[in-house]
Amino acid sequence: MKIGIVGGGPAGLYFALLMKNLSPAHEIKLLEQNPADATYGWGVVFSDRAVSFLEQIDPDSYLDIKSSLESWNELVIVHKGQPVPIDGSVFSGISRIRLLRILQEHGHRRGVDLQFETRLEDLDVFADRDLIVGADGVNSFVRQKYSDFFRPSLDIGSNKYIWYGTQQVFDSLSLVFRETQDGVFIAHAYRYSPAMSTFIVECDAATWEKARFASMSDAESRAYCENVFHKELDGHPLLSNKSSWIHFTVVRNRRWYHDNIVLIGDALRTVHFSIGSGTRTAFEDAIALSAAFERHGEDVGAALETFEKIRKPPADQLLRVAQKSLVWYENIRKPMRLDPMAFAYDYMMRGGKLNRENLKHKAPKFVAAYEAYQSGKGSSPSAH
Ligand SMILES: Cc1cc2nc3c(=O)[nH]c(=O)nc-3n(C[C@H](O)[C@H](O)[C@H](O)COP(=O)(O)OP(=O)(O)OC[C@H]3O[C@@H](n4cnc5c(N)ncnc54)[C@H](O)[C@@H]3O)c2cc1C
Repeated sequence: MKIGIVGGGPAGLYFALLMKNLSPAHEIKLLEQNPADATYGWGVVFSDRAVSFLEQIDPDSYLDIKSSLESWNELVIVHKGQPVPIDGSVFSGISRIRLLRILQEHGHRRGVDLQFETRLEDLDVFADRDLIVGADGVNSFVRQKYSDFFRPSLDIGSNKYIWYGTQQVFDSLSLVFRETQDGVFIAHAYRYSPAMSTFIVECDAATWEKARFASMSDAESRAYCENVFHKELDGHPLLSNKSSWIHFTVVRNRRWYHDNIVLIGDALRTVHFSIGSGTRTAFEDAIALSAAFERHGEDVGAALETFEKIRKPPADQLLRVAQKSLVWYENIRKPMRLDPMAFAYDYMMRGGKLNRENLKHKAPKFVAAYEAYQSGKGSSPSAH
């Protein structure tokens, strides 16, 4: 089969690898607008479940990914200056560029034709392809080109966020909620290499206006955030890498494919970063699409139909959790009134996926501490 892929992010690259596993005879051309060694972005995070399915699906690339993972077992929520540890949250981080380099390397080895610094602006270059995959991210050209068929909706979230890095190394996935005179700021921080962490800063629109970020330079914006989170950063500067304040865009598509053209990853739908599942979802799309081809051989129509049918229910379930999480963050002022322990519990329940029993199973120490706090036996950590 002749396959054309637009976009060399996790979705496009992983799909290329899996299709080569199905048949080395597939002729796969992947176009990526950035250079192969572009260093945009910091780290991404995976749950332990995501890591284990990569092992089953493609052990070769998994071995390389695994050796670059930084793992931790705990989530720490800092509210009113008080850290509340939550056990049972096994996550791993990896540098986004390291992940892409591993996937590129495996792509080369398996004979995928990877073309960098090539921005696709006309699908005619793929006129000879049996299958065209739009894996071109949140601002997908393919989706826009065929918007009459895909019927996308793009909802812009009200919060603002910026993706920084830092050499401050966080031992666990850390979420810091900080009340300031301008409003509430949130840091989402995690280590993704022995020497580096991702540090996303988020705030609501009113806070962003009041802090006057619109009139700040990149350096001023970093200095402001360093001041808000000086305790956690412990003197380490925030690092910028084409970083800018943006709104999260919730992407959905009524249809997932049109003729022989299909969308996957962020081009198809975005998953709010607060549940740390964007890259995992991109991989899961690639896995489901290749599995559909494994089942239907070269019958592109049947494979695309199966892809949507099999993949949509679990993807939609995750999106419901992500949407609730996004709304929780957009309404952060309300839970900020809670004590740290009650706040942490509210946080854990925000996605609507867990009840007390599941949470007890997942995070027994945290639930025991919360129940002790609730019954008045334990003390809620006081504000600093
Ligand atoms: C602030 C932030 C934090 C995040 N944190 C996490 C996290 O902790 N964990 C996690 O799992 N996910 C995270 N994500 C999400 C994750 O980065 C994406 O969900 C994931 O990368 C999606 O993969 P993708 O391959 O679909 O798209 P992308 O990674 O966006 O890749 C698309 C590729 O297509 C290329 N492209 C676009 N248009 C064209 C064109 N016309 N021609 C050629 N190439 C083109 C782009 O250059 C890009 O390389 C985060 C995202 C953001 C914004």
